[in-house]
Amino acid sequence: MANWLKRGATAEAVRAADNSVRETVERTLADIEARGDAAIRDLSIKFDGLQRDDYRLSDAEIQACMSQLSDRDLKDIEFAQTQVRNFAQHQRAALMDIEVETLPGVVLGHKNIPVNAAGCYVPGGKYPLLASAHMSVITAKVAGVKRIITCAPPYKGKPAPAIVAAQHMAGADEIYCLGGIQAVGAMALGTASITPVDMLVGPGNAFVAEAKRQLFGRVGIDLFAGPTETLVIADDTVDGEICATDLLGQAEHGPDSPAILLTTSEKLARDTIAEIGRILTILPTAEISAKSWAAYGQVIVAENDKEMVRIADQLAFEHVQVMTKDPDYFLKNMTNFGALFLGPRTNVAYGDKAIGTNHTLPTKQAARYTGGLWVGKFLKTCTYQRVLTNEASTLIGEYCSRLCALEGFTGHGEQANIRVRRYGGKNVPY
Ligand code: NAD
Repeated sequence: MANWLKRGATAEAVRAADNSVRETVERTLADIEARGDAAIRDLSIKFDGLQRDDYRLSDAEIQACMSQLSDRDLKDIEFAQTQVRNFAQHQRAALMDIEVETLPGVVLGHKNIPVNAAGCYVPGGKYPLLASAHMSVITAKVAGVKRIITCAPPYKGKPAPAIVAAQHMAGADEIYCLGGIQAVGAMALGTASITPVDMLVGPGNAFVAEAKRQLFGRVGIDLFAGPTETLVIADDTVDGEICATDLLGQAEHGPDSPAILLTTSEKLARDTIAEIGRILTILPTAEISAKSWAAYGQVIVAENDKEMVRIADQLAFEHVQVMTKDPDYFLKNMTNFGALFLGPRTNVAYGDKAIGTNHTLPTKQAARYTGGLWVGKFLKTCTYQRVLTNEASTLIGEYCSRLCALEGFTGHGEQANIRVRRYGGKNVPY
């Protein structure tokens, strides 16, 4: 039986926080729907202190942001974008259109059609998270989306040069300096100045994730990608320093980012707790990490790898770092995770920033039913059919007619019957 050396926030506390965010988002989206651009401006002033006539950045503003970055910065962004594009292209190539003859004369197919317009949210409240620009915009480009617009909040009162550069280099068609609920609300609902999109993608804080959830149906969304979660699964093949580093590396995202150590080694668990205490005295972002570790951090000692798989699948966490004797055991047996990082040589930061897999990943147990953002999310898999011969039409028609009668659908039945009469020369009994 697993033993908790440290527990996180209670389920009631998490629910209360979720409810408060839900109410704020409902109220704010209603305001955006009613007042359009005027609401967007008021909210931007209120939450981000930014007042502009037009929240879309001009070409001159974009160039001014680009020029603030060094050649090294631009090359680093280019490297990350190349890795994301490369992997997305491989994933796209694996998504085939199909057309098959399932019965003589019956041809069924599907084709993958990109959505026409996507709105990509790039978070930037606490840190200018430029990597989210590659993850959304490049992936949408590879999928073939025609219009790609992107929003990021101001950072310290103005557009963040690194984010704007990444949005532009990734190929965004329109770049807006808007954050939070007002950004996703404007992209989804449209205003006099922003033409609405068909789909919203990208990560964000609890307000952004909840706004996307509430807008689903009016537009498509990629997935529920809220405050970052990290689970480190480790045994005594690694030490407390590396586990503590990997836990705090993600806890710094925000005060509501859970980080959990799951281990078979009680010694490692205690060493990691001690290392966390030490690192928190020197980490420049410790104020945030310390809050999230105190409120949401957990340390669980399990009996064996099998129990760790069971607990990890229940948690269904966004990031899962595996540092054990046999990391592939977890790849083989785990079913609920956003992304796996196998072995101590890789880590979540590689995935977040540079290695090429997508960092927009499911949180709050959404990993039970979805993976992260990828080209497939931008594609609609749409079916079509053809019936090539009279015999095939008559065969399907007779089955269809009887099945419609079972359901009491006489109108549907007649659609089949007319074809059985015309192409099969048969009278269908009513
Ligand atoms: P953000 O851009 O997501 O949010 C900033 C915006 O939140 C502001 O512009 C403001 O409009 C709004 N806001 C702030 N307080 C508000 C309030 N009280 N009421 C209404 N709106 C409010 O930036 P952030 O806050 O730094 O959060 C980024 C988040 O993205 C982090 O939680 C991080 O963990 C998460 N993230 C998730 C993933 C993923 O794939 N799941 C990936 C990267 C980052």
